[in-house]
Amino acid sequence: MLSTILKLYYAPGAEPHAIPLTEYLALTNYDELLEIDLPNGRYTPLCHVEGKYFVPVTDNSLRSIFRFGGTHMVHPDDREIFENLLDPATLEQRVRNSETPGAIYAHFRCRLQSGGWRWTEQAVVGGPAAGLAPGQYRYYVYDIQSYKARETGEANEDYAHAFDRDETTGLLREKPFFYRAAALLKEHPYGWCLAAIDVEHFKLFNDWYGREAGDLLLSQMSTVLSQLEQTSGGIAGYMGLDDFCVMMPYDKPLLDQLYNDLRALVVQRDASVGFLPAVGVAPADGEEPIMDLFDRASIALRHAKGSFHRRVRLFLPSMAEQTEREYRILNEFQHALRNREIYFCLQPQCRVSTGKLVGAESLARWRTADGRMVPPTDFVPVLEKYGFITDLDKYVWEEVCAWLKRCQDRRLPTLPVSVNISPIDVLTLDVCDCLCELLRRYGVPIEKLKVEITESAYAGNAAVKSTVQKLRSRGFIVMMDDFGSGYSSLNMLSTVNIDIIKLDAQFLRMGDVARGESKGIHILESIVSLAKSLALPIVVEGVETIEQVEFLTGLGCSYAQGYYFYRPMPVEDYENLLRTPGMVDARGFVATLNKQFRIREFLDRNVYSDSMLNQVIGAVAIVSKEGEDVGILRYNEQFKRMVNAPEFVGTLPRLQRFLPEQEYSKLYDLLDRAERDRLNGASEALYFIKPDQSIARFLVRVYFIGEIGPVKRFYCSMQNVTLVSAMKDELLLLGRYAHVTLLVMRRLGNGWMYEVASNGLEHALGLSGEQVQRELNNGQLFQRMDADSRAAVIDAARHRAPGEAPAPDPVYANFHCGDGQIRRFRIQKHNVRGEVYNMDYIVIVTEAEK
Ligand code: C2E
Ligand code: CA
Ligand code: CA
Repeated sequence: MLSTILKLYYAPGAEPHAIPLTEYLALTNYDELLEIDLPNGRYTPLCHVEGKYFVPVTDNSLRSIFRFGGTHMVHPDDREIFENLLDPATLEQRVRNSETPGAIYAHFRCRLQSGGWRWTEQAVVGGPAAGLAPGQYRYYVYDIQSYKARETGEANEDYAHAFDRDETTGLLREKPFFYRAAALLKEHPYGWCLAAIDVEHFKLFNDWYGREAGDLLLSQMSTVLSQLEQTSGGIAGYMGLDDFCVMMPYDKPLLDQLYNDLRALVVQRDASVGFLPAVGVAPADGEEPIMDLFDRASIALRHAKGSFHRRVRLFLPSMAEQTEREYRILNEFQHALRNREIYFCLQPQCRVSTGKLVGAESLARWRTADGRMVPPTDFVPVLEKYGFITDLDKYVWEEVCAWLKRCQDRRLPTLPVSVNISPIDVLTLDVCDCLCELLRRYGVPIEKLKVEITESAYAGNAAVKSTVQKLRSRGFIVMMDDFGSGYSSLNMLSTVNIDIIKLDAQFLRMGDVARGESKGIHILESIVSLAKSLALPIVVEGVETIEQVEFLTGLGCSYAQGYYFYRPMPVEDYENLLRTPGMVDARGFVATLNKQFRIREFLDRNVYSDSMLNQVIGAVAIVSKEGEDVGILRYNEQFKRMVNAPEFVGTLPRLQRFLPEQEYSKLYDLLDRAERDRLNGASEALYFIKPDQSIARFLVRVYFIGEIGPVKRFYCSMQNVTLVSAMKDELLLLGRYAHVTLLVMRRLGNGWMYEVASNGLEHALGLSGEQVQRELNNGQLFQRMDADSRAAVIDAARHRAPGEAPAPDPVYANFHCGDGQIRRFRIQKHNVRGEVYNMDYIVIVTEAEK
């Protein structure tokens, strides 16, 4: 089947007119084939080499090709020849009376799409000699460029040769290559092989490193192949783009050598696996045609490209079976869409506690004309692999919208329906615009449609991320499908914004739920608790048994989709469900915050591996408390990074060493509260001092895990809120005191930290912003005051404890300013205790009136 794309080269030296017509047609291979229906004045293209010749756009009438062909397609000098050949008025007669009965020929130059001209032979065949009905003709176009070149003599011999070879690579072009490879195959029907070679993502390589680097790589690869031609007696060809072929002895070490040589060229430029060459090998097996061999090498090549470690792949018959099957599906699918063999069914999504419906998912179905069902797991992956999934999806989206419209018209209670989006869709069209257009066309409100996109698609795919963002900003509910199919997904939650998680059912099948003894269940538990802490609703897919339902309820999962509740059903059945009183839960999906945190055996390394703990979002530590001694039992990578403590590995440092002393009591209080409220835990924002003495503020959430003897254990998750709280406070303060200069002073450990200096102070002191900040924190600013002023300020600062003493009177201080002047400032201290940010003082400094 693949061979139809590539044709055998026109045999050089053969005299086309000298051989019988039928033989000629069988032997040679055409570029274009048209069918002419003379009585109706029409033609139909049957075969066409994409991108080779320039073909005018016509209405497929003979009249128009006669007219436009002459002016656009044919060399001006040859136009008359073309018009004589095709003249509809005399065609029938000329074919009948031709020297070669049933066929007429002409040679002329055709315009190439790439510019320039190419000699062609054109043949019109008809009548009984060609086995065709009266009035029906076949029109063939052959490429005879090299034949013509040879014909015109010695001087053009080089030209002919040059034409056989590609300019960039110097290797044989496709057709000459196959012609010679066929000859070589005759000589070596066994023991040789055809290898197809390709550089993965070559287009991307061009984009990244530029066209020149790309061309250079191609010519270096050609050099390797030319050398191989010489040493092995084989031949190499350039098939265009980044595709090469070589006919060579079938010798494993030689093939490996070839691969290594090619790889070395790519690695020079880019060592990532993204651009590795791939080689598909088809050993010659007797007398089969060269194109069959090429098909096999291409199939093997595709397999090589699918794998990072087996880059040289040998063709296996099973590979062809798979390809055959896939091609069959692709072919049949196009018919299926047109014949409306594709439709969608709906699977309800339910609230676990009540079994009521909150929504549904549309799932594609394929019933063939003979009543056979093709499962989506058979055709969806194939459509995805070859990029045709978008045809399916657009069709389903539209069908769903049309159905929603019909529901509206009939005033059925409707619930949102989700449609599936493939990552391929995101690359091939603007999913958001497409869906919006459908909704507009059918007059369906946006909240009736949800979209599901698979979790794997999020990984590192910027297009998916931006599509999700756009969809959400337009108001679509976005569900992350098949969540949890990889551990990485836990991390993903923190970077991708979505509305609902669909948890893959596999966890429920990983063990005996009733006895709670499956590893999958522990993973499920931790995912659920994480999702809840982010207030994301979860739909668990694939719920099949009552035990699973009970388990999910216990875990606090609110929604499910699965056979236990409903199987995917025809639209009519779903409508009946909607009509049943009390079936619909109009609240839909509601986020519930973490009410019940079940951390079972978090400490058990058999259950939670370190790597898994590290995948959990944010910093997590398990701490123990014995009396006043708070130690860290386990922690994850993020925790280590957050507290910035590399020396921390393998030790059990006290948590307190990361805290300023005045935070200790808050820490003990936090742990106590968590112990008292085991369900909700407790949280508190605490300051941490990192080893480099910088200060950060973490929001710490604590859950009590349990106690062994006097030792209590807690699970702590931490979020760095330094920036958030600082910004929040700054805004708050600046808003309140924007017209004056102010400082925020915070007592930390034994010192002070100054955080905000609005630029009024810089101005008044004649210093730069950085200078003020630096001098504030290293105490130099104090040195700018004269001794009396310093004493007054220190005295004022004694009234320390917030809330205890009344706000002191303002003090006045003289400062040596940046411009050498001495100015008098009014300093007013306010005791403050912020909610988020427990600052101690705000100091307002204003230049005193003279
Ligand atoms: P999916 O999106 O994860 O859909 C859920 C699949 O789980 C459906 O399989 C559904 O029938 C099945 N399922 C539901 N409940 C249970 C259960 O309790 N137990 C078990 N064992 N299975 C259950 P289905 O319909 O065979 O579809 C398979 C996959 O094909 C879908 O997985 C989805 O990835 C894809 N697919 C289906 N329709 C479309 C579509 O219109 N467009 C795209 N792009 N993909 C589709
Ligand atoms: Ca889905
Ligand atoms: Ca799914």
